[in-house]
Amino acid sequence: MTKRWGLIGASTIAREWVIGAIRATGGEVVSVMSSDAARGADYAAKNGIATSTTNLDRLLGNSSIDAVYISTTNELHRDQTIAAARSGKHVLCEKPLALSVADAKAMAEACRAAGVVMATNHHLRNAGTHRAMRDCVKAGRIGKPLAARVFHAVYLPPHLQGWRLDNPAAGGGVILDITVHDTDTLRFVLDDNPVETVALPQTAGMAKSGLADGVMGVLRFASGLTAQFHDAFTIAHAGTGFEVHGSKGSLFGRDCMTQRAVGTVELVSGAGREDLPIDHGNLYERGLANFHAAMDGKGQPSATGIDGIWSLATGIAVVEAAKTGKAVAIEPGL
Ligand code: NDP
Repeated sequence: MTKRWGLIGASTIAREWVIGAIRATGGEVVSVMSSDAARGADYAAKNGIATSTTNLDRLLGNSSIDAVYISTTNELHRDQTIAAARSGKHVLCEKPLALSVADAKAMAEACRAAGVVMATNHHLRNAGTHRAMRDCVKAGRIGKPLAARVFHAVYLPPHLQGWRLDNPAAGGGVILDITVHDTDTLRFVLDDNPVETVALPQTAGMAKSGLADGVMGVLRFASGLTAQFHDAFTIAHAGTGFEVHGSKGSLFGRDCMTQRAVGTVELVSGAGREDLPIDHGNLYERGLANFHAAMDGKGQPSATGIDGIWSLATGIAVVEAAKTGKAVAIEPGL
């Protein structure tokens, strides 16, 4: 049966990726909510959406809507998710889920109590590259994973150079924007949880209001593995990568920390070098297909609310570590 969606937030990410993914996986977008009537109406018209509203209760009161996609700025996610859950709507919420772990937990609890599906839109675990690396690690092909490196320093495109750079109250800054994705991808590929972090922030001229536009740091995982990460809004030509180094082999993912279904993974071990076969597919469509299945009681979404709590707890610990220069424990209390 067609899944009918309401969008909360007339956002760039919905326009560029998620509306298409909903439609490509058997869903329909029924309405969009924007805080600005004229912009909402224009967004609806340009994206082929029948109606728009400025009223959250009106969107949530529409009984034909099964699920909502929340892609407003981050300070709004909590109340919108809780209201949607209480209206019986399934919730796909953008990362970071909220600005505090307590708020994210309240969101997950509201969804659990209402019996609706909750997912966090961590798209990178849907990438063929990361799935291939996870399979390889699970199969024991690199032995015991000991270390990882995430290269996720990119250039924030001009059309996104807004609240991320100057609005701490909206959850701006590179850490809550990008480091949360690194964390989720590491948890997915390694099947392990972070326990501690150290980090140093950078402000290289793009971010304002005390926000970082670059960060380097290290996460220690429960298994003892250490993972280093470099995230930035300011670096145009570094390329992205994700590596896992184990006792018997190393995985080199290249061009894989991206929204596009691209990238390669090379396995290097005593047996030589091998390019892993990658099942490339649209990352957001995989996420939406899993979400639609979960709505039908079949399996879990790609990244659950609990996964979103983990990435947020880690992001907040990295912010604290970057601010204080001290090691900070990651304890979401789950
Ligand atoms: P946008 O800035 O495009 O949209 C966020 C909000 O800003 C919208 O809800 C909208 O408010 C308002 N807005 C949008 N365009 C304008 C405009 N021209 N003038 C005034 N206000 C405007 O943000 P993103 O799409 O980049 O990010 C939204 C969320 O998605 C964030 O939580 C972010 O972290 C997440 N994200 C996730 C990605 C992923 O791959 N998982 C990738 C990118 C972002 P209103 O709805 O009231 O109209």
